[in-house]
Amino acid sequence: MPNGKPAGVSCVHLSPSMRCILFGDARRPDLCDAFKAEREFCGDNREQALVRLAQLELQSLPDALALEGDV
Ligand code: SF4
Repeated sequence: MPNGKPAGVSCVHLSPSMRCILFGDARRPDLCDAFKAEREFCGDNREQALVRLAQLELQSLPDALALEGDV
């Protein structure tokens, strides 16, 4: 994804079975190669990982957007 991946959008290289189709391919981004799954972030399954990711996305919103939800 040349211009980056927006939050909440699946990577175009993710297969319907949730596998990276670039795994083992030189075109796979270095960041993806470097990422090591950790229980603190990924939990024990996909659902737990998605909950944690949603929490992090909310916590990283710019202050103005985060405050709108508090009104
Ligand atoms: S590992 Fe990287 S390239 Fe592969 S599906 Fe996930 S985000 Fe996309």
